[in-house]
Amino acid sequence: MVKAADKEFVKEITPQGTDFSQWYVDCITKADLADYAPVKGCMVLKPYGYGLWERIQAGLDRRFKDTGHQNAYFPLFIPESYLQKETEHVEGFSPEVAWVTHGGGELLAERLAVRPTSETIICAMYARWIHSYRDLPLLLNQWGNVVRWEKTTRPFLRTTEFLWQEGHTAHATEEEAEAEARRMLEVYRDFIENEMAIPVVAGEKSPREKFAGAARTYSLEALMRDGRALQAGTSHNLGQHFAKVFGINFLDQEGQLQHVWQTSWGVSTRLIGALIMVHGDDRGLVFPPRIAPTQVVLVPILPPRDRSAVLTRARQLEGSLKELYRTTLDAREEYTPGWKFNDWEMRGVPLRVELGPRDLAKGEVVLVRRDTGEKATVSQERLAEAVGEALGSIQDGLWQRALAFREENTGVAATREELAVIMEGRRGLVAAGWCGRDECEEEVKEKTGATIRNLPFQQRAVTGCLNCGRPAAHFVYFARAY
Ligand SMILES: [Zn+2]
Repeated sequence: MVKAADKEFVKEITPQGTDFSQWYVDCITKADLADYAPVKGCMVLKPYGYGLWERIQAGLDRRFKDTGHQNAYFPLFIPESYLQKETEHVEGFSPEVAWVTHGGGELLAERLAVRPTSETIICAMYARWIHSYRDLPLLLNQWGNVVRWEKTTRPFLRTTEFLWQEGHTAHATEEEAEAEARRMLEVYRDFIENEMAIPVVAGEKSPREKFAGAARTYSLEALMRDGRALQAGTSHNLGQHFAKVFGINFLDQEGQLQHVWQTSWGVSTRLIGALIMVHGDDRGLVFPPRIAPTQVVLVPILPPRDRSAVLTRARQLEGSLKELYRTTLDAREEYTPGWKFNDWEMRGVPLRVELGPRDLAKGEVVLVRRDTGEKATVSQERLAEAVGEALGSIQDGLWQRALAFREENTGVAATREELAVIMEGRRGLVAAGWCGRDECEEEVKEKTGATIRNLPFQQRAVTGCLNCGRPAAHFVYFARAY
């Protein structure tokens, strides 16, 4: 039997302050979330990483259905002619599209795009399905994968193939489509803040940063612990652009032929990247209880003499906890308790329950929180209740910590030079005025590396554009982004 040494386990993870990117990759590979695939830029989701995605899917899917949406599935392949129909859309996506040119050993008459997003194929189908105001609204969602041929990739954040969901809706009026686009952004905000404990800024993208083919794009922007921002979800009001191109028409109640108004919205496995980078620390991953694939790990301490008695009680406790929480009993004998403690901490499990011979004798257990390292001794009788309280407190604690981090790392810049200084230092979100002109946005990006993350819904008074000094049309947040 091989005894794994109780060596300084955390040495295997590069500290955040030394190299944040390496820390990120260390966490993913050492905690078995994902692995690199044979094709460059692709990723294999291992069970623990896929478990996170399943939690995200379950939480969002319930919310989509609660707001009246149904799931459907559309094909992976899109004829080139479909993609070509909407000019802005094809220009936005064509550099990243993977093409299928051969099938069954023969050259295809028309190239097929491996979907980079599904607006075109879905719109073509909607044109066949929608005829009357009675067919509206049409509220569909698809869980699937898309492919975007990226030059630089990073696990979860930017991969050639990724998992996501895309909602696609059609409405009779512009107001309904706008309300839908805003409603779904709010659904995302609710999930990301309340389940994942990640604070987000909700707002509108600048015209330069909006989705190719959309009238307006709304986004949620989160701040990572290295001071860079990450777009955590988007919702687009597509207006009638696609409806006109694909001929999605309906007869209204007056018998007039009208184009529909549309939206699309999506989140992806990027959310897992955000989860890692918002909550993780130098000991590894830290998962908020509501999203954690394993919420509680029970580690029995098993000296040979008491082994049987402790293990029996541990199995009983596991049984009662399992009914309420996602619980794992780690009774492996080839590892020492100390090694297991480190291992589960690295994997981000929110709460550890330790049971040794002395605890057994006293009818107690020790609870250890992943977020603060705090230990508490509780009686076995009220274990289930104590675990519930601790998980609630951890969820709230992680939220408060992430919120405080964002507050501390949100600055203000009156000029581009001030923004540049912040971007060379601790970065973060930077509030500023913007005149609304593309050239100012472009110049700021060129000189500072920061982009406009969004125009927050909660606008504040601002005087001048940070770049040109003209009167500011908008209050915006700048950041360097993933
Ligand atoms: Zn300006």
